[in-house]
Parts: sequence; C-alpha cells; structure tokens
Amino acid sequence: MIRVLVWNEFIHEKKQENVKAIYPNGIHNAIKDFLECEDISVKTATLDDEHCGITDEILAETDVLLWWGHMAHQKVPDDVAVSVQQAVLKGMGFIALHSGHHSKPFKRLMGTTCNLSWRENGDFERVWVLDHAHPITRDLGRYIEIEHEEMYGEPFGIPEPDKLLMIGWYEGGEVFRSGCVYHRGNGKIFYFQPGHESYPTYYNKDVQKVIKNAVRWAAPSYRVDDLPCPMVTKIEK
Ligand code: ZN
Repeated sequence: MIRVLVWNEFIHEKKQENVKAIYPNGIHNAIKDFLECEDISVKTATLDDEHCGITDEILAETDVLLWWGHMAHQKVPDDVAVSVQQAVLKGMGFIALHSGHHSKPFKRLMGTTCNLSWRENGDFERVWVLDHAHPITRDLGRYIEIEHEEMYGEPFGIPEPDKLLMIGWYEGGEVFRSGCVYHRGNGKIFYFQPGHESYPTYYNKDVQKVIKNAVRWAAPSYRVDDLPCPMVTKIEK
C-alpha cells in the first residue's frame, strides 16, 4: 500500500465562490477522491491543521507527499519546509502541483527561484508527452488537452530536470516545461503544471492518470531513517 498525504493550503475554495463551486470539498479532497484505490491510501492536511498537519512523525509514515499551494506559501513555517526536504532526502516522494512551484518545500529542494511567467486568461492548453516509456506517462496519448488553464510560461527558474517528460503549449503561443522529474538524495520528485484553482483541471481523466502514475513512480524504492553524518576516516599507512 502506498501511503499518500495530499497537502492543500485550502484558501481559494473557502473564499471564492467560483472556486468553491468547482471544488466544494477542497482541491485536496478532489485529488483524494480519484487517487484512492486498491494500492493507494490517502490522507489530507491543510494550512488550518496544527503545524500544517505536518510533523516528522507524519512524514515518516508518508510515502508520497502531494503539495498544492498558491497564495499562502509564506504562512508555511520554515521548519515544515525543512522537515519535508529532509524526508525527501531520506526517500519520501514529493509531487509539486501547479503553483506549488513557489512553495517553500519545492524551492528548498530545487535551490533556485522557480519563477515563471503567467497569464490567467483561460487559455486552451495542449500538454505534449515527450517520453512514452516513462512510468509517469503510462497509458497517455500523444498529448493531454485541457480546455482552460492558467498560462505558465518560460523562462521557468528551475534547475535542469533529470528528465523532462512534458511540454505545455498554450493558444497564446507560449510553451512551458510542464512535467519535470528530479531526484534529491533517495527521494523522487515530480513537478506537474496543470491545476489552476478556477478551472476543473483535476477532473480531467488524463491529468488524474498522470498524478496516479506519478504517485506510484515516486513511492520510495529505498528509504533511510536518518541521514548519514559526515564521517572522518583515516588511511592506515
Ligand atoms: Zn494558478
């Protein structure tokens, strides 16, 4: 069983009627609804929970952490971001969704600005699949079509991905590295761009397929309880 924790700041869905209409129980529960199955169990946590619902103990019992945040990245305490980073280095999987590109945990893991260009105009998006042999793109066609999305465009201030799996194209002409794979320590990381709160992107069957594939891919293959300390060794002469 893969133990998933879906974290969502859960603000837009409470404050904006148009978002509430799409995700009445929050984006985290919409993701939980399609993710939960015979080999995946899902818990959720939000900014409202004590300590964001994230402790070292909870992370130790989490195989893959999904992160959706947008307007309240700064309200997440730095020590939560450090705990997530440490858990990934030990082997936990981490999936940053949409505007999670600017979350504290993702930026710590990347070490760069993660800035991008954007336009909220309901553009049509076609997400092209570059590698059909990767576990994350299993069972996808040549591309995913999303009727309306927020445009996220290059330049995207990320480190060179270990593997670029998808490129998004928008009707405005922009392109974006929409599906990026990284490894940090023992942990596997995936950034996936679609998922703006005011469009029903998480009900798109192909988007759901990618996230489910990514959870199975990011589940730890090797995990340690503690990170190794620097070791001083002496060469015998
Ligand atoms: Zn957005």
